[in-house]
Amino acid sequence: MTLPPFDLHRPTTEEEARELLLRYGDDAAALCGGTELLLLLKLGYAAYGHLVAISGIPTLRGVRAENGSLLIGATSTHREIESSSLVLELLPALAAMERRVANIRVRNVGTLGGNLCFSDPHSDPATFLLALDAEADWANRRAPLREFLVGPYQTALASGELLRAVRIPLPKPDTQIVHRKFAFHERPAATVTTAVRVQERTITEARIAVGSVGSRAVRAHAAEVQLQGIPTSDPDAIAEAAETAAELSEPVDDANGSAEYKRELVRVLAIRCLREAAAAADL
Ligand SMILES: Cc1cc2nc3c(=O)[nH]c(=O)nc-3n(C[C@H](O)[C@H](O)[C@H](O)COP(=O)(O)OP(=O)(O)OC[C@H]3O[C@@H](n4cnc5c(N)ncnc54)[C@H](O)[C@@H]3O)c2cc1C
Repeated sequence: MTLPPFDLHRPTTEEEARELLLRYGDDAAALCGGTELLLLLKLGYAAYGHLVAISGIPTLRGVRAENGSLLIGATSTHREIESSSLVLELLPALAAMERRVANIRVRNVGTLGGNLCFSDPHSDPATFLLALDAEADWANRRAPLREFLVGPYQTALASGELLRAVRIPLPKPDTQIVHRKFAFHERPAATVTTAVRVQERTITEARIAVGSVGSRAVRAHAAEVQLQGIPTSDPDAIAEAAETAAELSEPVDDANGSAEYKRELVRVLAIRCLREAAAAADL
């Protein structure tokens, strides 16, 4: 596998990147860590005469807290996020999820923005961020992540637009966040994230996102409603909510298995997430 030739542009501002992407149109793509894009080029699945490297644009970098949210620049690598002292302090579950993405070589250069913009349905961050009601900042827009991730390998980005950052509202201190995945191959076959608030051993609020089994990650709203008001010590109620999440997960048959099998994976992962959250809350 060899890379076909291309011109590499290194803009230092978003405006310059936008101008280059618009100038070369369909013959250009943004390049960040390259872990997806360069593979596509090597395999001949895509061809571009111009790659616009965006990792040198300072306004797309960095992690900071802002108005009760964690703001993560799109070109932050998985490794930077998992080892950020701010993330470890304010949202350790994000660091834990990122630490389990891919392998260290991919995490060293692969970025959160690249993961989301590629919009591979088999994504850990997409599921995790959906459960936390994250928003995407792109071009001059800000919207819930579910509006940005339109479908498999499709986002809401228009020509010349870049994802700028992801904004994650910081959860209330009594929230237990658990992310679980199951994988046969490099990318996850099933991902579940639960964010559960517990007061006096009773679930007061629950958010459940399920991903990697269908065309995109989804929220299991009916399961979230089912969990409200149940004691953390009620295994039957937790199992019923996990069953509902599995029913709502919209799985499809693919190389990871049948839709029915993936529904079962989701059910088991959801039970494990909810039990772990309940146990942590009871400590
Ligand atoms: C071996 C392997 C294992 C993996 N395992 C996992 C896993 O377990 N879980 C998981 O979730 N993911 C996994 N991945 C996916 C990995 O997370 C992504 O490859 C990585 O995050 C992509 O980031 P990048 O910077 O390399 O993207 P690039 O390859 O540079 O870009 C990907 C796409 O996004 C576009 N793009 C990038 N940034 C922007 C931006 N800011 N604005 C607009 N467009 C942009 C590019 O034009 C391109 O189309 C795996 C990948 C590999 C190769």
